[in-house]
Amino acid sequence: MKPAPAVAVTAPRRLVEGRERVTLNTAYVRALEGAGLVPLAVPTMLAADRAGAALAAVRGLVLTGGEDVAPARYGAAPHPRLGDVDPVRDAAELALIAAARARGLPILAICRGIQILNVALGGTLYQDLDSERPGPVPHNDETGRHPVHVEAGSLLERTLGTRSASVNSRHHQAIRDLAPGLKAVAWADDGIIEGAEPSDAKEPWMVAVQWHPEDLTERALFDGFARAVA
Ligand code: MN
Repeated sequence: MKPAPAVAVTAPRRLVEGRERVTLNTAYVRALEGAGLVPLAVPTMLAADRAGAALAAVRGLVLTGGEDVAPARYGAAPHPRLGDVDPVRDAAELALIAAARARGLPILAICRGIQILNVALGGTLYQDLDSERPGPVPHNDETGRHPVHVEAGSLLERTLGTRSASVNSRHHQAIRDLAPGLKAVAWADDGIIEGAEPSDAKEPWMVAVQWHPEDLTERALFDGFARAVA
């Protein structure tokens, strides 16, 4: 039997009961293992050149949720409502994205993941939706859900198997200007971009979503990622 493919999952630094730890929500581990993959945590506190080297051992990359991306990365001044940033994590994940793209590895980008991916490819972000782009959809709600509309014929639609979904939403930032090379393929009712993928269909598999599929019973994204990795 072929061994299960390993994938890198970014694991941030967190202060837990007064001690610094490298952390990864178990929901990512369960979702990836459930899709037949072996998740390997890559600490985002690694120096950028080391982080990229971690990809030598894996067949795919998962960019996880977390802090805001430092606005200097996309040429903006910090907004008063900017949340916590971790410039070391930004650097490590930008190196991971560059290394994954250089090797043609599949990338699954979740929440902060869609944001850092957009910045990596030259896009910009809203730093705080409530103050910079207020609208009727509560995007920053620990318990709520909202509908998303998925572009017909997109990789995301083929992966999810649907053009409409109800997703969780725990983000106060979002894509502002989409990066060259990406196309938007899912939106909330207020027009906020909730999904993106390469505009060139010949690019390696890459799906980025603004929601947290690891916390839904929805398995399709992880299964699609696993098929791309295999
Ligand atoms: Mn949302």
